[in-house]
Amino acid sequence: MAGQSALRIVWIYPDLLSTYGDQGNALIMSYRARLRGHEVEQLNVRSDQPLPVQGDIYLIGGGEDRPQRLAAERLRKDDGLQRAVEGGAAVLSVCAGFQLLGHSFHDDEQGTLPGLGLLDVTSSRGTVRCVGEVVSQPDPALTVGGRPLPRLTGFENHMGTTAVGADAKPLATVRSGNGNGAGAGVDGAHAGRIVGTYLHGPVLARNPALADLLLGWVDGDPAPTKADDVWHEKLRAERLAAVGA
Ligand code: GLN
Repeated sequence: MAGQSALRIVWIYPDLLSTYGDQGNALIMSYRARLRGHEVEQLNVRSDQPLPVQGDIYLIGGGEDRPQRLAAERLRKDDGLQRAVEGGAAVLSVCAGFQLLGHSFHDDEQGTLPGLGLLDVTSSRGTVRCVGEVVSQPDPALTVGGRPLPRLTGFENHMGTTAVGADAKPLATVRSGNGNGAGAGVDGAHAGRIVGTYLHGPVLARNPALADLLLGWVDGDPAPTKADDVWHEKLRAERLAAVGA
């Protein structure tokens, strides 16, 4: 974000991809960016609009198969996200958004479809629907303020399963629930400044440290955001207790 006055948060295709509260990720990211002293420009980019390439953080959420297919088609034609990532932007992707950043994913009507190839993951169709609460232990290499991220809590609902390739690492080890598929043992993936997860909730309301991770990547300040996180903590405690974690 060198030379820019405002930190730009781009919410990709709210008209197609925003399930189970994913909109909250944009609200929380913008709120915490302001608490860090940034002027924030939040751009909600619909699927009939070109994607700006000068964003600092891009957010892409979950969706059913048809909107996921449409979103992937449009993002493949509009190479704005690819160019933004090449320029150092950070990306938080959830469920359908996570799958379509990979090499390919499965669509109920059309079978295997190409993704954007921005993350070394490949998704296909599982045999069971993964639905319910998830608790996971993030990759200890991901730190905020020099400390590993705390456990992640979220809600999943998907048929897709995702294999993580050699050029990405799983985001977290699953303690409860499924993540990248029944028996996969891990959730999501990360590489460079791209994070993918199956966790809704919205994931940043339940795990504000994840917002701080991406904010630190783009503003260069590794410290946690100075925020009153009492309500986030209450939500986390309630959701973790709900699965006996
Ligand atoms: N349609 C995808 C699947 O079922 C993603 C679902 C979602 O984003 N919740 O795997």
